[in-house]
This record gives sequence, C-alpha cells and structure tokens, in this order.
Amino acid sequence: MTNNCIFCAIAECEIPSFKIYEDNDFIAYLDINPISKGHTLVIPKSHAQGLLDCSEEKLRALLSVVKKVAAHLKASLPCDGFNILQNNGAAAGQTVNHIHFHIIPRYNETGVELSFVGGKGDMEELKNLASQIKMV
Ligand code: AMP
Ligand code: ZN
Repeated sequence: MTNNCIFCAIAECEIPSFKIYEDNDFIAYLDINPISKGHTLVIPKSHAQGLLDCSEEKLRALLSVVKKVAAHLKASLPCDGFNILQNNGAAAGQTVNHIHFHIIPRYNETGVELSFVGGKGDMEELKNLASQIKMV
C-alpha cells in the first residue's frame, strides 16, 4: 500500500471506495462506518497528515471542495443540516493520518447523538489562560 496510508491507496484506486466526487487534486467518498446516512470524507489526493501540515493554498482549495460536496449532499440526500469534523492527532480521535474532513449529514427526524458537552468555565482561569495564549 502506498506510504502505508489507506487514504493514499484510495486516492490511487489501489483499494475500492464509494466515490462521490473527484477532481485533479481531491476526492470525496462515503465513510465505511457512517455516523449518519451520507457520511462522507473529503481528502486531498496528495498526502499530508493533518491541518498543520497543509499549505494555505491546499487548505483553501480543500475547504472549497468540502463546501461543494456538502451543498450537494444537502440537496441530493436531502438532509436538514450537517456537521463538519476534522480530527488532528490521536488525542483528538484521528485514526487515519491523512488529512480528511468529515461531512456528517443530520436529519430532523433521527436522533444521531453528536455533541460536545462543556463544563462551566471558571472566569479567573479563562482570563489567565487567555493572557497566556493570546495572539493579539
Ligand atoms: P478519523 O477518526 O477522523 O481519523 O476518521 C477516519 C474515518 O475513516 C473513520 O470514520 C473510518 O470509518 C473511515 N475509514 C477508514 N477506512 C476507510 C475506508 N477504507 N473507506 C472509507 N472510510 C474509511
Ligand atoms: Zn495518505
């Protein structure tokens, strides 16, 4: 397998996928473990591990494909909404180390659970943290 990377292998048609979009640089295909009907992954054909490894140019083009595919899914499935998810690093749940955006269609009638439940922030801690990490 190319690079030992399953998504490179999909991009090079070395292993099959349920492809729904392709251009010179990007492809989109159905996730084999869908969270909801139409769960789709969008990837660049060239390998990069995660968001921080991609050039601005590649990211801009990738996000533009994500938008195009999401609009198509919304109209053609159709779905009522969608989540965009992009995991970076094992700690964040990334299991395939080739950058990919998940498009997860959502439906009013079905109760797919996908939520991040936050705790109540401590104002003093948030203030200190902001001054520690602020970029402005
Ligand atoms: P992540 O946890 O963000 O790295 O997501 C990787 C996703 O890739 C998971 O949702 C898997 O179900 C999906 N996946 C892994 N192998 C394949 C494959 N051969 N075809 C389609 N989707 C895959
Ligand atoms: Zn790859």
